[in-house]
Amino acid sequence: MSESEIPGIEAASETTLTDTSEFDDKPILCIDCGVNFIWTVGEQAFFRDKKLQNPPKRCKECKQAKNERLAAIAAAQASGVRQRIEVAVNCAKCGETTTVPFYPSQGRPVYCRSCFLEMNPSILNGNGAT
Ligand SMILES: [Zn+2]
Ligand SMILES: [Zn+2]
Repeated sequence: MSESEIPGIEAASETTLTDTSEFDDKPILCIDCGVNFIWTVGEQAFFRDKKLQNPPKRCKECKQAKNERLAAIAAAQASGVRQRIEVAVNCAKCGETTTVPFYPSQGRPVYCRSCFLEMNPSILNGNGAT
């Protein structure tokens, strides 16, 4: 057995970028408002502590706004009050992003207003008779 591997490969020249501390404040782009926010060292440690795999996606404000939105929906459902909702979906026909005032059930196609009217012209005419 002759292992002829040459161990003489030089270690990559020292980088000055190497972190000395385990964590560093990280800027993350908020998916809601598109603004960079800082994922602080403390929060990163917290995440690691909780064994969370995914870094946060929203800044504090957006996270709070989202929680309030969910809370408002939950409260409305609990009180039986129907709330106007808007859900962003992609039209199954033309692919345009549109909003619908309901939560579409999975697997059911949702259409934008123009495609919907195109397929149901009688709605525009009022009377379906020709
Ligand atoms: Zn945000
Ligand atoms: Zn459409």
